[in-house]
Amino acid sequence: MTKKIIPFVDLYGQYISIKEEIDAAIQNVINSSAFIRGSFVENFENEFSKLLGIKHTISCGNGTDSLYIAMRALGVIPGDEVIVPAHSWISTSETVTQAGGKVVFCDTNADTFTINTKLIEAKISANTVGIIPVHLYGQPADMDEIMAIAKKHNLWVLEDCAQAHLATYKGQKVGSIGDAGSFSFYPGKNLGAMGDAGAIITNDDNLATRMAMYCRHGGLTKGEHQIEGINSRMDGLQAAILSVKLPHLEGWNKKRIVVADYYEKYLVNKQLALPFTKDGRTHVWHLYVVKSKTRDSLLKKLRRNGVMASINYPIALPFLPAYSYLNSTKEDFLESYKNQLEIISLPIYPELLEEDVIYIASLVD
Ligand SMILES: *Cc1c(COP(=O)(O)O)cnc(C)c1O
Repeated sequence: MTKKIIPFVDLYGQYISIKEEIDAAIQNVINSSAFIRGSFVENFENEFSKLLGIKHTISCGNGTDSLYIAMRALGVIPGDEVIVPAHSWISTSETVTQAGGKVVFCDTNADTFTINTKLIEAKISANTVGIIPVHLYGQPADMDEIMAIAKKHNLWVLEDCAQAHLATYKGQKVGSIGDAGSFSFYPGKNLGAMGDAGAIITNDDNLATRMAMYCRHGGLTKGEHQIEGINSRMDGLQAAILSVKLPHLEGWNKKRIVVADYYEKYLVNKQLALPFTKDGRTHVWHLYVVKSKTRDSLLKKLRRNGVMASINYPIALPFLPAYSYLNSTKEDFLESYKNQLEIISLPIYPELLEEDVIYIASLVD
């Protein structure tokens, strides 16, 4: 087959498909000088709430801040312990520490990559206050089990939905199941801005007020600060861009599902473990992650042939230098450890064609 160049994501291709709308939206913001918060941000918050069927959307500067703000508003104080999956992007755990809490890792599943709910209760102590399930790669975590454990032990649940916009668990959209859901609109996410942006959603009126206050210097009225907060605001350009993209999100997710189906069709007889989607969930395929016993040589071969595969994430959180103080052993988080050695993310985005998948599959033994 002739060599192709297949990027990991194709943000320019997406832009070209909606160029006129995006350009006009940017011009509108400039014309009205609504650069920070303002009507474009309010419109996006309302549209996002409507699409997710939730009462409140609180926009903020990025997805990492959304986790941090939620935890500050949930009332995390020094000494509090928060349970997070051992394999995720570091935002999930670093924000626990930033909020004053103590990170407690829990191993993930070998097949779904989400938190292993059978191991959660053994991690709960008298100081545990909450759980942050991550809907990793776009597949919802086992929310029934998580909510039951949280109820039993009186814990809050903050869903990290950064990779799972519009994914559903037994018909319910992720982010609306726990006490709050956090979202990232980093450009490469299923719904991406053209810069940094994030949001938190909740049905809890009081929590919504505390979160909104916290990210706006601790006050909702200019000059009147109820508490000390931070500055984490969505800007008007990002909000206007996100409003243009929002009506396309469901269609884009559907196209990702079609690409995942192509992968399943063309990779079926290869030396790979294909992703496993549990019943009752819509996986929105932020990433298409397979497992290979010869991962490193496969990655080299794909790249040599123009396929920009990657590894998300090469080192599970407990084994990063940032967490060496916890002295974790591989036996402590065995599945996350084994996964980190075998996972490889193949390109997936709505614009990826069947012939691209055929080309990628031809490079896999
Ligand atoms: C992207 C991501 C975040 C953080 O989002 P930013 O907007 O980059 O700060 C948090 N959690 C997970 C799982 C992510 O993938």
